[in-house]
Formats: sequence, C-alpha cells, structure tokens
Amino acid sequence: MKISVVRDILEANERIADQNRDLFNEHGLLVLNLMSSPGAGKTTLLEKTIEALKDDLKMGVIEGDIQSSQDAERIAAKGIPVVQINTGGACHLDGNMIRDTFGEFNFQDLDLMVVENVGNLVCPAEFKVGEDFKVMILSVTEGDDKPAKYPLMFHESSVLLINKIDLLPYVDCSIDKIKEESLKINPDLTIFDVSCKTGEGLDGWFDWLRKRAQAGAAA
Ligand code: MG
Ligand code: ZN
Repeated sequence: MKISVVRDILEANERIADQNRDLFNEHGLLVLNLMSSPGAGKTTLLEKTIEALKDDLKMGVIEGDIQSSQDAERIAAKGIPVVQINTGGACHLDGNMIRDTFGEFNFQDLDLMVVENVGNLVCPAEFKVGEDFKVMILSVTEGDDKPAKYPLMFHESSVLLINKIDLLPYVDCSIDKIKEESLKINPDLTIFDVSCKTGEGLDGWFDWLRKRAQAGAAA
C-alpha cells in the first residue's frame, strides 16, 4: 500500500514535469537541475558560471531553499533574472513548484535556466522538474564514500562536478575512488574536477554548457 502511494506521487509529478519540459522546449531553453548536499558549492558554481558565460548565454535561475533568500540575492547581484522558492520544510523541488515560477520569467529571452535544488543527496534525484539534464556536485570534503551511499543521484545525473579540489591536500578523499564508483553506477557520467574557489577545471564545464545550450537552441 505504502509503495503504491509513493508511486502515485512520483507519477503525478512526472506528468507536470513533462508539461514543464514541453514548454521549455518550445522556447529552445536548456534546463539544468543542479543538485548536491548542502554546502557543496551549487550557488558558487552558478556565480562563476554566470561570470564566465554572461556574454554567450542568457541565463535565468530558480533557487530552491527550505528557507531564506540569500542564494537568490547572490544570483541577482550578478544581474540575472532569479526567483527564490522557499519550500517551507520540503527537502526537494517538484514540478509544481517550478511551474509556479513561470509568470516571473520571459522564456523567449533566455537560453539557459538552472534550477538550484534544495541541498540534499536523496530525493531531489527522484523528482523531475522538467530538466534536460541533472547535474550534481560532490565536494571532496564530503568524502569518497558518497557514490556507494547515494547511488541514485549518481545514476540519474549526466554530469558530476567534483568540487573543492584545492582542499585535497587537507582531506582524506580519493578522487580516483569517486570516479571509479560513480562510473560503475553510471558509465555515461561526464566528470569534471573543479575548484569553484580557484577556477581550476571550470573551463571544461563551461564548454559542456555552451555545447548543450547551442544544441538546445538548434532543436
Ligand atoms: Mg545554494
Ligand atoms: Zn525531499
């Protein structure tokens, strides 16, 4: 009984997410669902990405947090249209919450929408919001056991950014182990080693984004 209830919720969400996706596609908009645990560097990655790609891509951001608008304020300071969703306790975003923001954006003016999900390695991976790709960040301070412990997120993501590599000398974390175990779960995963603080490795991520956005606009 419990299982069928959960499945109903996920199926209902999937229908709404598909409708969101159709609308995004109509506008040739590339949409990313950005996920990680709290503090892995989602908002900092967005700040760096906006700075690097501002002249190439017109970006919008949807910020999901349980509470506060601090992240949306950081994005707004970069001159990008942004809407903050406060889930009021819910630990993930869903299709409905994203749909509720649509009145706040001019989709025809945008090339790329990034949905920054609530910091959580568990259920954001289960609830689609209408994205083309799921992108996850794992920082080296979280440890190299995370693929084994939270396999669904690694399985569902198209891109894994291993962040905070500037801290590797100070933590017991093997990037090789992260990669090996992630690729066992998801052989198609594209992985970038990055430091959002120093900027190391971010060029590969920017190129990936440019290519995907161009393909989205062409489609
Ligand atoms: Mg954030
Ligand atoms: Zn949740």
